Amino acid sequence: MSSYKHFETQAIRTRAEKSQNREHTTPVYMTSSFTFEDAEQARALFGDEIAGNIYTRFSNPNNNELIDKLCLLEGTEDGVATASGMAAMFTSMAGLLKSGDHILASRSLFGSTHQILTGIFPKWGIEHTYADIEKPETWEGLIRKNTKMIFVETPSNPGLDLVDLEWLGKLAAAHNLILNVDNCFATPYLQQPAKWGAHLVTHSATKFIDGQGRAIGGVVLGPKDLIKDVRYFSRHSGPALSPFNGWLLSKSLETLHVRMDRHCENAMKIAEYLEDHKDLEFVKYPFLKSHPQYELARKQMKLGGGLITFNVKGGLERGRRFLDGLKMISFTANLGDTRTSATHPASTTHSKLSDEERAAVGIYPGLVRVSVGLENVNDILEDIENALRISRGITQVAYNI
Ligand SMILES: *Cc1c(COP(=O)(O)O)cnc(C)c1O
Repeated sequence: MSSYKHFETQAIRTRAEKSQNREHTTPVYMTSSFTFEDAEQARALFGDEIAGNIYTRFSNPNNNELIDKLCLLEGTEDGVATASGMAAMFTSMAGLLKSGDHILASRSLFGSTHQILTGIFPKWGIEHTYADIEKPETWEGLIRKNTKMIFVETPSNPGLDLVDLEWLGKLAAAHNLILNVDNCFATPYLQQPAKWGAHLVTHSATKFIDGQGRAIGGVVLGPKDLIKDVRYFSRHSGPALSPFNGWLLSKSLETLHVRMDRHCENAMKIAEYLEDHKDLEFVKYPFLKSHPQYELARKQMKLGGGLITFNVKGGLERGRRFLDGLKMISFTANLGDTRTSATHPASTTHSKLSDEERAAVGIYPGLVRVSVGLENVNDILEDIENALRISRGITQVAYNI
């Protein structure tokens, strides 16, 4: 793997081997299998004595290129590309854990990751305990004899709370645990968990890595010895990424730095504008000085990220009316797109939880999560301001009491 010094160059210039056509851009290798030169090469390939592609469920030049790039960007040795972010989360755990093992996880997790821990793993005897992000002093006491892995997301969804990666890296090392960080919200451009001691870095590449709302994909990255077991699991259970999506995602990485700079610049401007807004109870953004973990955000993130949350005064009804009042901004649960989108977790992704359960992960009735896109920031702001006005018009009297 060639290694350039800087992030941008690595993301653009790292590539699969060229074919005999001397193409400038890596072509899409839509082939299910690869041929062998002779019996001896086939034997050596299957025996892992030499590296090379055999069958696209195992590896493919497009997916290899994606992994090579992400290893350079994240500072990891090896990785596996998967068909979705959830396949990455699942494979990173199922490939390394066995019945009787225990996972310590942060309570603020992506919904389907929560379902894996609570609905799927218990069937196979893999247990978990949730720890609260805002009470780091309690985490060590939750580690058991059979704990094997710590799993976290930072910044968290949708609360945008941070986990101190340096602290957690040390805790994991002291107890000989695998630290697995879902780095999907930050991307390697803003934060490299491996630098702070994370062993595995997992991604939903569907979000900012694709960044254009086109493809589903994921990756598991880490040291060779752990990835060996993850790869074994993946190779034989089959969550392989399509070469076309591998190609698309690798291409997308070429513009990740430019896109993330603008996502963050737009998000920062919007967060600052909304901070003292009379219609909002609070605004949360990691790079706002009012964020309770502002110092930590500055330490472990390059910029504040593309997501903002705010709590509309007036609770559930007004939160819903705000979403209905948006004209340009898309109402969708997805995030990390060129198009700004907004969602109301209390009535959508987290509607099945009780009020208490929602409050425990920072989801208040009026909470709105905005994934700030790459449109002109003034158009985004105008739409938000207009929707706030619409939501206020109908309920002004009741909520001013
Ligand atoms: C979207 C998301 C996932 C799941 O990824 P898919 O590509 O949708 O399977 C996992 N973790 C986080 C933080 C996400 O935002």
